[in-house]
Amino acid sequence: MKIGAIRGVKDILPAEIGKWQEVEFAARETLENHGYREIRIPVFEYTELFARSIGQGTDIIEKEMYTFEDSKGSKISLRPEGTAGVVRAAIEHHLLGPSAINKLYYIGPMFRHERPQKGRYRQFYQIGAELLGTDNPRVDAEVLSMLHLLLQHLGIAGISLELNSLGCKACRPVYRATLQDFLKAAGDALCNDCKRRTDLNPLRVLDCKNPHCREATREAPSVLASLCRECMDHFETVKVTLDELALPYEINERLVRGLDYYTRTTFEFTTHQLGAQNAVAAGGRYDGLVEELGGPATPGIGFALGMERLIALLPDTVGRRDRDVLYLAPLGKAAIDRTPHLLHELRRRGVCAETDYQGKSLKSQMKKADKMRARYVGILGDDELNEGVVLLRNMENKDQQKVPLDKFVEVISTTLSRDHS
Ligand code: ATP
Ligand code: MG
Repeated sequence: MKIGAIRGVKDILPAEIGKWQEVEFAARETLENHGYREIRIPVFEYTELFARSIGQGTDIIEKEMYTFEDSKGSKISLRPEGTAGVVRAAIEHHLLGPSAINKLYYIGPMFRHERPQKGRYRQFYQIGAELLGTDNPRVDAEVLSMLHLLLQHLGIAGISLELNSLGCKACRPVYRATLQDFLKAAGDALCNDCKRRTDLNPLRVLDCKNPHCREATREAPSVLASLCRECMDHFETVKVTLDELALPYEINERLVRGLDYYTRTTFEFTTHQLGAQNAVAAGGRYDGLVEELGGPATPGIGFALGMERLIALLPDTVGRRDRDVLYLAPLGKAAIDRTPHLLHELRRRGVCAETDYQGKSLKSQMKKADKMRARYVGILGDDELNEGVVLLRNMENKDQQKVPLDKFVEVISTTLSRDHS
């Protein structure tokens, strides 16, 4: 019986892997230039970690997590996002301290049980970054400019930045209550999910995609009108810094994010090129999270970027880094016997060298070399062996020259090796 992959889970095939590798490379470059260092966290954690950090009334906790019990009865979930694990690790390994600033990034798969569609998968990949240890608003602007730079480096156009502030533990509850009153008055106009959210996580109602809920909350009070003095100043500095960096943004007072631990600056990078799945990256400040997870009170900010959606936006030119290949075409048993050693030496010197050991005709081997777009073919038959040479054919200009067998590895590796380029 043929067994297929799980629904909503994609294989990333060699034909598309160049784009993935290039995105990862560009992300590492940009993030590391900004002082971030990679952290690799487990793909599963105790369910409690996510429940506590992501919060009730969110889609992730209510319906999207893959949760199971291990043989000892511990409740475990596949990670639906990276922030909780990074913060857990930072607390556990004492990376946090009064004067410590930690800049951490991760790249890896996340798991959510959602309805699969274009740009929405059950295993998907995120590049994320977390900055722990400061609530300086210039840092918020720096996180945004870093993301902007990364998108620019990858040649992605047509992305807008939406920005909002959600207040802090002083003013957020006031807004929450005001919004709750408004939502209670709206009552039956809301979908059933939102009726429940009104008590549990009222801000989340503003994020509901149901058109009736959108209509019913059109006149909802704005979070920005309830910000306390400190939060207003904080937001102002973020905006002024972005202006100084000439980074365009739009204020979106309905941008709330599904997660409970977000405070103050909240943002999303969106595009019109992906249909309904328009968010490419999202994030914000979470000054309360570290404490919530049992660590010392430590402010933080972070984001996660969806790799599938980013890759769907990449220009076609990205990720076409063909390697220069030398195809070795041995003819006859004596030449085939020499092949393993020659290939090994070439590869040891960093050359991408290929052959098939099938002893086929020259014509058939040339076809094969052509198909893999080899830059050179080294022909080694009985005549060449007797003469102590390899016949080297340049596949671009069809030039042929004899290279002494004992110099062959050296000649090729100086021309083709990445180590020498
Ligand atoms: P959405 O509103 O699209 O469901 P979200 O608010 O759930 O997004 P986040 O938790 O903020 O998304 O995750 C950050 C980014 O990860 C998103 O902007 C998106 O690019 C990507 N992402 C989230 N869920 C998925 C998914 N199921 N498949 C592919 N990419 C995803
Ligand atoms: Mg979602």
